[in-house]
Amino acid sequence: MSEFSGPPLDATVPDDLTIPQFFLDHHHPSRPVRKDGVPWLIEDGTGRKIGFEEIRARTFGFANGLSLRYGIKEDDVVLIFSPNDVDYPIAIWGAHRLGAIISGANPTYTCDELVHQIETTKATVIVAHPVSLDTALAAARVSGIPAGRVLTFGESSQKSVDSLVKEGLSHNPNFVERKLKPGEGQTKIAFLNFSSGTTGKPKAVAISHTAPITNVIATALHGKVGQNYCRWEDQRFRPGDVAAAVLPFFHIYGLVLSIHFMTFCGMSLVVIPKFNFTDFLKSIVTHKITHLMLVPPQIVLLCKHPAVKDYDLSGVRFLISGAAPLSAELMKQLVKVIPNAQVGQGYGLTESSTSITMYPTDQKIGTPGSAGRLLPGVVAKIIKQDGSLAGFNEPGELIVKMASLALGYYNNEKATRETFVNGWLHTGDEVVINENMEVFIVDRLKEIMKVRGFQVAPAELEGCLLDHPDVADTCVVPVPDDYSGEVPLAFVVLHASTAKRVADDPAEAEKVKASIMKHVEDNKVAYKRLAGGVEFTDVIPKNPSGKLLRRILRDRAREMKAKPKAKL
Ligand code: AMP
Repeated sequence: MSEFSGPPLDATVPDDLTIPQFFLDHHHPSRPVRKDGVPWLIEDGTGRKIGFEEIRARTFGFANGLSLRYGIKEDDVVLIFSPNDVDYPIAIWGAHRLGAIISGANPTYTCDELVHQIETTKATVIVAHPVSLDTALAAARVSGIPAGRVLTFGESSQKSVDSLVKEGLSHNPNFVERKLKPGEGQTKIAFLNFSSGTTGKPKAVAISHTAPITNVIATALHGKVGQNYCRWEDQRFRPGDVAAAVLPFFHIYGLVLSIHFMTFCGMSLVVIPKFNFTDFLKSIVTHKITHLMLVPPQIVLLCKHPAVKDYDLSGVRFLISGAAPLSAELMKQLVKVIPNAQVGQGYGLTESSTSITMYPTDQKIGTPGSAGRLLPGVVAKIIKQDGSLAGFNEPGELIVKMASLALGYYNNEKATRETFVNGWLHTGDEVVINENMEVFIVDRLKEIMKVRGFQVAPAELEGCLLDHPDVADTCVVPVPDDYSGEVPLAFVVLHASTAKRVADDPAEAEKVKASIMKHVEDNKVAYKRLAGGVEFTDVIPKNPSGKLLRRILRDRAREMKAKPKAKL
């Protein structure tokens, strides 16, 4: 077996439509007929419901406001720095109507992290939120964006999205909607999402308009959505179902699977800005949520948190876990917690505009430990360590070809060439595929680690650590963690004078470790902190050309964490 293929993508994918034209103006045969009166979006806290006509109108108002007030046009970048909000999709689709590009950022980023994203994408307008406004304004100042070009969802000292929408709606159109020539959707950039890829620091992944459209259609066919594809009773995603949008919209999983896929299926999306577990349980009951898209730490809570027994979760019909590995053990526990639901995993990357695999519809419960089967239109190869192609059950690096691959890393040809090779995406994940065509992710060959489903790039933390006055050299590796999946641990070589100082003084050693950890905490978003600890070492192993031998230290860290610490 040299290639593994999902079923053919048995549908036409329009590549002459922008994302809002496809999702708001067009009907595709794989799309179910929308039920009357079903809201598209529901605001979790207030229960406010927003229907299709209102969304379309607000999208137009936002586009017109962006054009009138900020002169936003073709290929300008609008950066959204906010928790999930009902106006988030509207901001995306409004910008797209102008031919502009959206880049979503984690709203808990520090100023430096946001500046990196602004400068990489060359964003000229920031849509923030009252909770992220201070950082947005500080980063705008550093990047030379005038404060007047920072607006917010909700009321604040800055202009609100709502007032911009109203301004846009009260004026004649100041723009001509961007239309695409046949094929143009495949190369026109819609999103710049961030990922570190197989190596190095976070990079902007350029995603075309057609890529998420293709991924949504492929996921719909895999889930047998649409009246032409399957009996209504057998469909996994049905108009009128209610999905929880708790995954962040700035991440590809929330962006494509929540915002675009769930609304494509005629489902209502309950927009949840911040994950708080007991509030989340309440929301499931209050809004009669049927569909959950989660990451493994949220599943740990579902399996272990004592509050779960106080809530009736019998209405949940579908749950998917993605973004990081879900152990077979946890999966078996989960099935007991929500016995009425279909449960399983999906797998994908920012670089594939989300899903590559998903558990198949003929399984109510996905095979524990498996990431599911290849989606329609995906072709895969597995490259063994010796460079030859793997057959069934042989491990190696997964490479995939599919129509929803990203265009590459924005303004970074070198990284693009290394990861997208002759049309194949090198995932950096080690997998096996069995005779049932089920994919199992067995390990990660690339540098990144996944902390609560978020990428953490060792190279980024190493750069930060080298700015600490006591650190001469460093290597950051993941260590397993029951809740977060994995967390970063830093091996550190101290400058000679510090090393001498701490050598015979355990209290001083602890002080230096605490100071190094605080340095990361002060400069990076919370999930990047060194929760795995700091370990002093004499030397960081490197090959003759100076490349870090990360694996040696990763294995050493795993061993250290497996062994209980010897009592001194
Ligand atoms: P991101 O681009 O942030 O979505 O990260 C993509 C990476 O997350 C993949 O390359 C995998 O390493 C990891 N990942 C995503 N889904 C899964 C899964 N179901 N099981 C194991 N790892 C996963």
